[in-house]
Amino acid sequence: MNINNINIFHDVTGGTENKGKESQNMDRNQNQSQNQGKNRNQNQGKNRNQGQSRNQSQSQNQSQSLPASRVMLQKQVELPDGAVFPVLTFASWEGLSGVRHCFSTRTGGVSEGYLASLNFRRDSYDTPENILENYRRVAAFFDTTPDRIVCAQQTHTSNVRFVTQEDAGKGTVRDRDYRDVDGLITDVPGLVLFTSHADCCPIYFYDPVRRVIALSHSGWKGTVARIGAVTVRKMQEACGCDPADIYAAIGPSICADCYEVSEDVAEAFLTCFGTQGLSSQFKGNSSREGSETSEEYEDSVTNPFSVTKEEPAASNDNGKAERVRKDLPAADEGNDLIPRILTRGRRPGKYQLNLWEANARILREAGIRPDHLTVTDLCTCENAGTLFSHRATNGRRGNQGAFLMLEKDRPDRMQ
Ligand SMILES: [Zn+2]
Repeated sequence: MNINNINIFHDVTGGTENKGKESQNMDRNQNQSQNQGKNRNQNQGKNRNQGQSRNQSQSQNQSQSLPASRVMLQKQVELPDGAVFPVLTFASWEGLSGVRHCFSTRTGGVSEGYLASLNFRRDSYDTPENILENYRRVAAFFDTTPDRIVCAQQTHTSNVRFVTQEDAGKGTVRDRDYRDVDGLITDVPGLVLFTSHADCCPIYFYDPVRRVIALSHSGWKGTVARIGAVTVRKMQEACGCDPADIYAAIGPSICADCYEVSEDVAEAFLTCFGTQGLSSQFKGNSSREGSETSEEYEDSVTNPFSVTKEEPAASNDNGKAERVRKDLPAADEGNDLIPRILTRGRRPGKYQLNLWEANARILREAGIRPDHLTVTDLCTCENAGTLFSHRATNGRRGNQGAFLMLEKDRPDRMQ
């Protein structure tokens, strides 16, 4: 299997010309995240930024071209039969030895229709054989096979499970004997951790000192439950990791411009991150089940190979009429309800949520050094032709996979 680096550093947001050389600079990722927040605020009420107009045209054209990025690299995976397909990796992790990771795109698999083609969602319109073949293809990037992959069992919890050799193949070639697991940790080289995504954030963790990896799935519920911090704490408790040693990276997922949420979600974030006294107004009055606006729903709970009915995205208005909100600030009190995380939306009663910044803040508070933290610049919703997005497709979509493995041999150990 050959891996060819194809570094593409196009300027996604139309900002300044800074290509290539700064891509390894993780401080820059932080600044970029902040600047995006600013731009978004400045653009509010005006017309679209470039990202959004690109989104529209890409959705309409179902473009197969890969999204450009300053944070992510595109690598080509070559299969034994000569077929080639791309995966995404973090440029900032290029210098880290002893670990291998990727995030899949829609391209390179065998699934069809709206699941085309590299789908990892257990869906009534896909077959277990197709999904297993898709796992086999990405496994080639790790020079391994699906029976070395361990899958989460995602239900938007903050439960993180330590997995070992005994868990190899769970969720790919055999049933998982656990449920409600949204994060995985291991210290076993050669075991590939897997989580699935279609707008929610994948968070990758690597401690090169203790030789421990972790991978977590963080949608809005997982973010409110601070799964990023829970994962760091579990790495400390289970393996003696020092957060200062851990590298963390937030992968492709929905950006703040695209992520409009309803009042209950805004309320949950005000409770979690609240500032200026707002949070106290919401305590004990948040997170009703079944009221989420946009999330991916885990396939099956017990049998990973069972089918599920299609879950419509439009669950927004359930019971909303009965809900009277008096305690959110009035419109003229400013757009930022939580700086750089939650902003008043373009439509009445709606809010824009920045999952990237929320998770980055949680990780920093958990002790991840800013120069060890990478935040993606690739939005799934804006690239629905090449990445699966729940929001962009109203739920008719497959799942990407996040994959992470400790290398069996550590090249720098001899130094
Ligand atoms: Zn977006």
